[in-house]
Amino acid sequence: MNIPEGREEVDVAVKEVEALEAEMAKLQERLVAARKTLTAARQLRILIVGFGTFGQFIAKTFVRLGHRVIGQSRGDYAADAREIGAEYTRSVDEAMAYDPHVVIFSTSILSTSKVLSNFPLERLKGKLVVDVLSVKEYPKTILQSQLPPEADILCTHPMFGPQSGKHSWQGLPFVFEKVRVTGPHGSAICEEFLRIWSDAGCRMVEMTCEEHDSFAAASQFITHTTGRMLAELKPQSTPINTKGYESLLALVDNTTNDSLELYCGLFYYNAFSKRQLEKLETGLQSVKEVLSNFEKKQLEEDGGPGVKWAMSPSSRESSASNLAGQAGGYASSPASPPKS
Ligand code: NAP
Repeated sequence: MNIPEGREEVDVAVKEVEALEAEMAKLQERLVAARKTLTAARQLRILIVGFGTFGQFIAKTFVRLGHRVIGQSRGDYAADAREIGAEYTRSVDEAMAYDPHVVIFSTSILSTSKVLSNFPLERLKGKLVVDVLSVKEYPKTILQSQLPPEADILCTHPMFGPQSGKHSWQGLPFVFEKVRVTGPHGSAICEEFLRIWSDAGCRMVEMTCEEHDSFAAASQFITHTTGRMLAELKPQSTPINTKGYESLLALVDNTTNDSLELYCGLFYYNAFSKRQLEKLETGLQSVKEVLSNFEKKQLEEDGGPGVKWAMSPSSRESSASNLAGQAGGYASSPASPPKS
């Protein structure tokens, strides 16, 4: 048999590759174990008080990222919790017996004060207390005044929900204010908790609760108000939907899917909302004035659209209202189109 030249070199190289591969497999095993240890060390026990729509929605991501979640609420959510991989109890005492690092209040804005007044607040000493209410100045004030000074406070507003954050939280804004975070242990828990949101892809926005409310009244509250106002018109899809009208239908759908309680909370507990509502009314008045002035000027100039259309104003109105009936209200657009 012919031994090819350089055979010895090949044998040496093969042995070296095998040795490195074995070493790599061991390192891989150590890496998996170290990752497990890190996850366990970082695992937070998170109690969610108010295990309704939003509480369950955030619980799913907490569990997926390796945290232990306990839900507590009035309703019977045991089966939902099981499906998520969380524990569930209706008893506050049992919930607190899990000794959670973090206690999140995810109750409706309107019920939060009542929930807090029934909660054994002394048991929140040494915990990070978080709220996720869609208004911020209000929970900040009541948490500061009612919690024992040994409880840390983080006020947050994840600016998304089960609809907008259904597939991913990537790039979605998470607003927070570290209202009171004390000592190295408290800071570490707070950082771990914030890490959950940044690991899930959120855009982390640190601002005061007051700043949040000012921005949110001018954006979120106006969005919800517009959606609810348009819902009153019962808008329906037509065979000639524009892209703009499609977004309007989606807006109505999105905003009316959230509870009325949530919407009322956005109004009542945000000091800036009333002013925005007034601005909206003033805006509608201004637009109506523009149209009314235009109509007056045109009537003087040409005697009104009836002259051009060769149709009396009353017959035009009745034909428009017939069409409006067919199109579910869509055709109730201006009876006097701009002159072409
Ligand atoms: P919600 O209607 O605002 O709140 C429902 C939750 O409040 C349920 O867990 C319910 O508990 C609890 N609750 C209501 N009245 C109560 C009372 N009298 N006593 C005790 N608990 C009471 O709907 P949500 O969408 O789940 O919102 C929860 C919180 O998350 C709100 O503060 C909201 O502002 C905030 N948030 C919501 C969204 C969102 O997209 N939905 C986004 C960001 C933040 P039971 O079901 O056990 O009755």
